[in-house]
This record gives sequence, C-alpha cells and structure tokens, in this order.
Amino acid sequence: MKKDGIINNTSTDPNKILPMRYLWAREYYKSGVANNWTPEEISMQKDVEQWQSPTALAPLERKLILWNLGFFATAESLTANNIVLAAYAHVTNPECRQYLLRQAFEEAVHTDTFIYCCDSLGLNPDEIYNMYNTIPSIKAKDDFVVGLTTSIMDPAFKPIGIENIQKFLIDLIGFYVIMEGIFFYAGFAMMLALKRQQKMVGIGEQFEYIMRDESLHLAFGCDLINTIKAENPEAWTPAFQAKITELVKQAVVLETAYAYDACPQGLLGINAEQFSNYVEHIADRRLERIDLPKLYFRENPFPWMSQSVDLTKEKNFFETRVTEYQTAGSLTWE
Ligand code: MN
Ligand code: FE
Repeated sequence: MKKDGIINNTSTDPNKILPMRYLWAREYYKSGVANNWTPEEISMQKDVEQWQSPTALAPLERKLILWNLGFFATAESLTANNIVLAAYAHVTNPECRQYLLRQAFEEAVHTDTFIYCCDSLGLNPDEIYNMYNTIPSIKAKDDFVVGLTTSIMDPAFKPIGIENIQKFLIDLIGFYVIMEGIFFYAGFAMMLALKRQQKMVGIGEQFEYIMRDESLHLAFGCDLINTIKAENPEAWTPAFQAKITELVKQAVVLETAYAYDACPQGLLGINAEQFSNYVEHIADRRLERIDLPKLYFRENPFPWMSQSVDLTKEKNFFETRVTEYQTAGSLTWE
C-alpha cells in the first residue's frame, strides 16, 4: 500500500495543516505574502501622458503595448481558473493548498492590474479582452495550454493510476512551466525593454511586480511537479518525458512566433532574433528545473531581465514599501 503524498491523500485530514510535511510549500506562502503589492500603488500619470501624446510612442510600440495587455489580461484569468478549478481539487496536501490560495489571490491582483491599465489609459475593453480570440498568435498560445488541460476538467477526473497522474502532470506543466514559465516571458521582456527607455514606466513597474510573483509561481509549480514525480516514479516514464520535451518545443515555437508578430522590426535596439534566443534560454531553464535535458544552449541575451527580478538591487525601489523582498525560490530565477 502506497503512502499518501502530495496528491490523492485519503488517510489524513486535509484540514489539519500541522504538523507540516512539505515545508517548502509553507516558505512559498510566506514569500508570497512578503511580496504583497497592489497596482494602485503605482502611478500611471506618465503613462497616460505618453499614451495621449501623438509623438511619445511609435505606432509599433503602441501595438506591442496593446498586444501584451491583451495577452496578459486573459492569461491571468486562465491561470487563476486552473488553480482553483483543477490544481486545488487534486493537490490535497494542506500546506500546498495554502500556497495555492495565496497564488490565486496574486492572480486576482494581476487581473486587477489590467483593469487598472484599461481604465487609466481609456482602452476599449472589448478590444483588449477579445485579443485571445482575434489575434492569431495570442489565440494559438492560449489554445495550446487550454488544450493540454481539458481532459482533467471532467468532474469525475481523479489523478489515480499512471495515465491520470500523467494527465495531471501535463496540466501542471501546461500552466506552470509553459504558460507562466515560457508564454509570459517574451511579453515581460518587451514591457521591461520599454521601461528601460522610459516608456510606459508605470506599466513597466507593474510588470516587474507581476514577474516577481510569477517567478515564485513557477518555482512552486516546478517543486510541486517534482514532488509528484518523486512520489509516483512509475508515471515519469521515458516516453512521458519525451512527450513533455516535445510540448516545450512546441511552446517555444508559439512564443517565438508571438514575439516576431508583436515586435516584427525589433524594438529599441532589440531585434526579433534576440527575443527568439531569450525564449529558448528560458525554455532550457524550465526544462532543467523539472530534470529534463536542455535543448537550446543559448546565452541569456537580456541579462537585465534577471536583474529586474532581484528587486532589492534597485535602490529606491522599495523606499515606500513596507516589506523587504524575500523569496523561497532562487532570487534571480527569471
Ligand atoms: Mn499572474
Ligand atoms: Fe501566476
């Protein structure tokens, strides 16, 4: 008889959080709380002035901003839905559930960020919130992740037996590794590149906070995935590992297509090929994190992306904040 683990717990009380078995999950919860922020803390004044100015932003920059707002506005909601409707149902361990509740709140803060951006810039919500239907390279990313998870949305689904544990792992890999870990990162790089040029600095700062949160989400997700693998090694077969690697390869193609599409002529000295190398660099880091071999071996073309996550390096950044940045995950894990 197999000992109960992080999923499929039947013999211990799911409401009894003490004593804890997975202390790392508790650490992620504490780190998430320490990173608390709200979008209204960040002024949109300069952004509004630039957005209303006929000359402050080039037409391609305006398009790129709209596309990234459009992608994230609905991607945050898709991610929140997966936590609450899929992950929470099957991750039965109480300290992991405590973190999932915290993560769900953070996704609500991120959703709030895009409401705040739409309101302050006076954007058309029907345009922004429909981009995951109307912009093919955004739709392709969302359809890819949602397509990986539909089989576990059946209310009768339980992650019991090799095949169903694999389906649940694909759901977690779809959202934590691919959506939050790969599909968010070309957009993060674009918005932070703009901020480095003093363009849309309020939104850029909001993206820095979101990226800090997301780096914890995906680190927790990878620890969760690795724990399920360790407790159910029969599900982590070579054929399944090959399947996951193939999914990551497909995700890299989709994210690269999005980067070229959103930023066709490059941006502010960054060309589309660098975005492509960045996506591949990020994908290798995600693969390594779940013990799969690297595929691309790219240098990080944007070392400033990892510095942005390590917000304590940015003097003054936290002057007005109550909390200091702490993390259970690796500090510069972009
Ligand atoms: Mn988020
Ligand atoms: Fe997230």
